[in-house]
Amino acid sequence: MATDLTIEPFCLGAWQTNCYVVHAGRDCWVIDAGFDPGPMLDYLSQHGLTPSKVVLTHAHVDHIAGLSDVRVAYPDVPILIHEDERGWLGDPTLNLSIALAEPLTAPPATGVMRHGDELQLSGLAFEVRHTPGHSPGGVTLYQPDHHVALVGDALFAGSVGRVDFPTSDPATLIRSIQEQLYTLPDDTRVLPGHMEETTIGREKATNPYVRA
Ligand SMILES: [Zn+2]
Ligand SMILES: [Zn+2]
Repeated sequence: MATDLTIEPFCLGAWQTNCYVVHAGRDCWVIDAGFDPGPMLDYLSQHGLTPSKVVLTHAHVDHIAGLSDVRVAYPDVPILIHEDERGWLGDPTLNLSIALAEPLTAPPATGVMRHGDELQLSGLAFEVRHTPGHSPGGVTLYQPDHHVALVGDALFAGSVGRVDFPTSDPATLIRSIQEQLYTLPDDTRVLPGHMEETTIGREKATNPYVRA
């Protein structure tokens, strides 16, 4: 029997970014930190949880805007991002905040992830799958015992991530979904960066943008 895993979603800020607190035993991670992360920080303190990592699915502003607040609450927490977006946190053009009233720079990453890395949470292994296309360093975190994948903005219920940004690539996104996500078991829960959760099987059968 695998260790219990709790994944608490928080839909944060005006961009309605799904961020997650993932915990197993006493260990927990923050997955993305959107605008106005107060509800997520309240949850952590109410449950006596101290995150051992912030893991970023990618570095778009709506997934990193709350990083400064997380760092105020947890000054030493490591921040991981895929190596292809390592410099993006401090670059408003790349993180897409340049057009906002206040271009945003977030605290820098302290470590990088690569495809095939394994991150351990209380003995549960999360596989890092590189799923670029929406952005070049997009990652999915897949936990096979609990049949769950945190996919960032690669795949949504009935949709896919935007590919109209200068750093996006539509063909790459389709390949990522087909090769890295549609190859997961059909009953895998898909926890996306926006909108409601879905499953791999449902998207393979019905997603209008990417066929299995
Ligand atoms: Zn994005
Ligand atoms: Zn997003």
